[in-house]
Amino acid sequence: MAVGTELLLGQIVDTNSSWMGQRLALAGIDSHFQTKVGDNIDRIVGALRTALDRSDAVIMCGGLGPTQDDITREAIATVMGVELVRHDEILDRIRAMFRARGRDMAESNARQADVPVGASVIAQTRGTAPGLICPVGDKVVYAVPGVPHEMMDMMERAIVPDLQARSGEKAVILSRTLRTWGLAESTLAEAVQPRIDALDRSGGNPTIAFLASGIEGIKVRVTAKAADEATARVMLDAEENELRKLLGDIVFGVDEESMEHAVAARLMAAGLSLGLAESVTGGLVASRLVNVPGASEWFRGSVVAYDPRVKFDVLGVPEGPVITGAAARAMAEGARRVLGADVGLASTGVAGPAAQEGAEVGTVWFGIAMPGEESEAVEVRLPGDRDRIRQFSSISLLDLLRRRLPPAP
Ligand code: ATP
Ligand code: MG
Repeated sequence: MAVGTELLLGQIVDTNSSWMGQRLALAGIDSHFQTKVGDNIDRIVGALRTALDRSDAVIMCGGLGPTQDDITREAIATVMGVELVRHDEILDRIRAMFRARGRDMAESNARQADVPVGASVIAQTRGTAPGLICPVGDKVVYAVPGVPHEMMDMMERAIVPDLQARSGEKAVILSRTLRTWGLAESTLAEAVQPRIDALDRSGGNPTIAFLASGIEGIKVRVTAKAADEATARVMLDAEENELRKLLGDIVFGVDEESMEHAVAARLMAAGLSLGLAESVTGGLVASRLVNVPGASEWFRGSVVAYDPRVKFDVLGVPEGPVITGAAARAMAEGARRVLGADVGLASTGVAGPAAQEGAEVGTVWFGIAMPGEESEAVEVRLPGDRDRIRQFSSISLLDLLRRRLPPAP
């Protein structure tokens, strides 16, 4: 539970909860809910009661500071039904911290030495507020400061070990994400459904989830829980194999591997260089490719041939309409020739807002000229506004090339 009105107002982003979610998963602790609540005693108390009803343990962050709106301690004491007691040794340590920085402690800081009766303290090493471990019946509430590095330090040092000791179970949860391009989410879901059913029948571990990420395709995430990391990895490997059998070539990468990385790996393995002629994508494809370190080994460059005259004069496209398959092919051949590349790749189309040459918004032609082969053109119809059409065009064009190249070993 993240405490702070500024979180609700959107003034700061609740990165603490995301970090905790990852950390708990690594430790094999299931997390079921994440809550945000403002600096209001009744609402914090209410949220904490709800949280304790539905979970064995609750971690609170924020609201442990010295100011009037820092009321996490009071809320926990209320739920525990106990008083807050001032701890002199904590107070001494806070005073000492201020002294070490050459400052006097404000009287309000003394509140940070208040501890609910029955709670134990996670010693503060960095900031001034200690963390709390508060038993509530057979459950537990932890409280840590909102400042990220203080929160992380206390999670590592005290909370994760305490949770593992309480659960009596040591487990690791690992995830792997297969990234796909080229199938609609519903089609993809249908293809994977038999695997999901089989896993459900055999105990629901690992699990499979879909994450649509728009212009970066659809991700299929596998999550495995096991006693140790090595076992979890073996489970992920096996499931990745099963999924690849179902999905085939639409999987372009794993985890952080982007489409440009996949294309780079295949070009390198094949020993081929690439040149671009970009109209509708206006340099976006080149920009993606140079994300890959060492791109100069295989990437020759891009001609941003936006004006038709540049297509004609620089790339040697025959004069005439430019949103056609013939123009896309001529652009790809031109890029290959003028850039001295093995492979030429081209985009031309209508990103909108207005139709052009009688072609509707979203009409895009790709040209591809592979070494020693006739060039080809592919037409696609892309949805969305100008920006989406250009982004979709870029990844689709890269994917077209990826599929023409043999997989990297
Ligand atoms: P302090 O003792 O420093 O006052 P605190 O426990 O009172 O700590 P807050 O006042 O709630 O914590 O937050 C202190 C700062 O920590 C915030 O200004 C913000 O920068 C950061 N912070 C708080 N909560 C979060 C959160 N959930 N995610 C990310 N950052 C946060
Ligand atoms: Mg504060």
